[in-house]
Formats: sequence, structure tokens, C-alpha cells
Amino acid sequence: MGAGSRSLRLLPTPRWELIAAPLVTAVASLLENPAANAWSGGAVYLAMMAIGMALATWELWLLKPSDSETHRALALAAGILAIYYLCRFVVYLREGPDGPNFATYFSPAVTSVLTIVLLVTVSFSVTALSNEQLINGLNERATRDGLTGLLNRTAFMELAAKEIHRVHAAGSVSTVILADLDHFKALNDGHGHAAGDAAIQAFAAACRASVRDTDFVGRYGGEEFIILPPGAGPESARIIATLISRRMAQAQTPAGVTFPTVSYGAAPSTIADPDLGRMIAEADTALYRAKALGRNRVVCSDPRL
Ligand code: GH3
Ligand code: MG
Ligand code: MG
Repeated sequence: MGAGSRSLRLLPTPRWELIAAPLVTAVASLLENPAANAWSGGAVYLAMMAIGMALATWELWLLKPSDSETHRALALAAGILAIYYLCRFVVYLREGPDGPNFATYFSPAVTSVLTIVLLVTVSFSVTALSNEQLINGLNERATRDGLTGLLNRTAFMELAAKEIHRVHAAGSVSTVILADLDHFKALNDGHGHAAGDAAIQAFAAACRASVRDTDFVGRYGGEEFIILPPGAGPESARIIATLISRRMAQAQTPAGVTFPTVSYGAAPSTIADPDLGRMIAEADTALYRAKALGRNRVVCSDPRL
């Protein structure tokens, strides 16, 4: 239980720690005539149970709340078990397994009931928590881009389409922004892929610093990015893009490297047509125009804006 709870914090338990408690208990049992004594090694066993459950309590208590809301209740259950086994241990030492208090409060029958209720619940819940963490981790990997931590293309498309429709239903429009780093291949060729990766990461950081928590930013392809500030018109999109470029220009670069400028294409949804695919196609055309006009600029799909 202790090691299982510890693994929830992604901490390993050395093998000897797992072997030590059963081994010490087994040795203690061997020394107390196990053939005739049903309680041989009982004191050590009860002490080990109390220590193990106390360890589990501590580890569950230290779990970050974001990992799960149930961990405090679990820590409480494990704590009750730890205290129960500690009391059992103390009473066992004072009056032995045949003493009146031990027989009344800490007998195998009472323990069985408590064990079924608490120990089984706690161990099953720890397994469930561990699975939940695994699923969260896999979900994170399935939706995030590994280099930048931004949404990957699939996740962005799914979330952005939903958001555009939600905003549309409320009677408002959104603008999608496509961004492409300028002459990025020259940076890769001249300074190596590590410098290129640094530029991509700097751009992602500039995006994160320039948008609100409710905006979506994704890595669309290699050095292409896509941004959706829900409810923003083309003018706000232009301001956001300009802010990102300013941050990118001020970013810390590796020695001897200048980060590329960035071109943007922006396309708003319309009340008549909130389709993300159509918006991206229009933003892409606008982006090509931005490149053709000399790069390092924002072009909107609507020439009047
Ligand atoms: P333009 O100004 O017209 O956009 O020119 P460009 O050189 O930026 O565009 P191009 O499409 O020719 O080059 C994009 C390059 O991006 C090619 C590819 O090797 C590189 N690339 C794609 N993904 C990554 C990545 O994850 N890391 C690095 N370092 N380079 C990447
Ligand atoms: Mg490109
Ligand atoms: Mg490019």
C-alpha cells in the first residue's frame, strides 16, 4: 500500500524496502514457534502493518489535489487503518492475543470487518487513482505537441470548432489566425535544427504570453501555428498577432542566432457561416498574401480590414 501510494506521486520504491517488511515479519514468526503458535511474529506483523499504512497515509496526503479529489478521503481511510493497527500493536504488547481488550476490540473478527471496509476500499481506490493518472497522462500526450506544449492539430481543430459554434450561438463571431515563421528553412540550414527548435519554442512562448487563458493556440504543422481567440474580430486578431511578433523579436536567442519574423493570415467567421475549415482556407490564402507582400505582417482575408 505504501509503495502503491508512493507510485501515485511518480516516485519509485527501492526493492529492498518492499522485501524488508515481509522478510523481518517472517523471521520474527520463525523465532516464535510457528508450528504451535498461531500468533507467532504477531507483534512485528502488527508493527509492520501500522508502519506500512502510516506510510501510505503520508504519501496519499502529499498527492497534489489536481491529481484527484478523492485522495484526502483515501488518506483518511489509510490513516484510520494505521491508527487501528498501532492500537492493536500496543494492546498486543501489553496483554497478548488472549487479553480482554484485544479479544474485544482487536480480534481477527473485528479486524476482518474493518479490513474489508477500509483496506479493500483503499487498495482498489489507489488502483483506480493510478489508472486515472495514466489516462490523464495519455490524454495530455494525445492532445499536446511535444516540442511546444501547445495543442496539437487534431486537438485544436476539435476544440476550436466547438468554441466557434458556441460563440456563434451567442450571436458573436471569432477570428482564426494562421502564423508561419519567415525563411525558417534558412535558420535551420544556417544554424542547425536545435536553433530552429529554439525559435519554434520561443514563438510558442510568445503566443502563450500574448493570449488569454480562454484562447486556443495550436501547432498546425512544422513552423506553422494556429490561434483562435474566441469572440475576437479581425482588428483584435491583428493586435494579438502584432503583440506576439513584438514578443518574439524581444525573445532571448542562442548566441549568434536571430529569430525569424512571422507572417500571419487572419479570417473571421461570419454569422451566416461559422465553419472552421472555410476560415482556415481563407486564413491560408491571406497568409500567402502576407508572404508575397514581403512577410513580417498580418493580412486579413477581408481586404477592407
Ligand atoms: P517562408 O518564409 O516562405 O515560410 O519560408 P520557410 O523557409 O519558413 O518555409 P519552408 O516551408 O520552406 O520551410 C519550413 C521548414 O521547417 C522545413 C522543415 O525542415 C522545418 N521544420 C519543420 N518542423 C520542424 C521542427 O520541428 N524543428 C525544426 N528545427 N525545423 C522544422
Ligand atoms: Mg511553412
Ligand atoms: Mg515559413
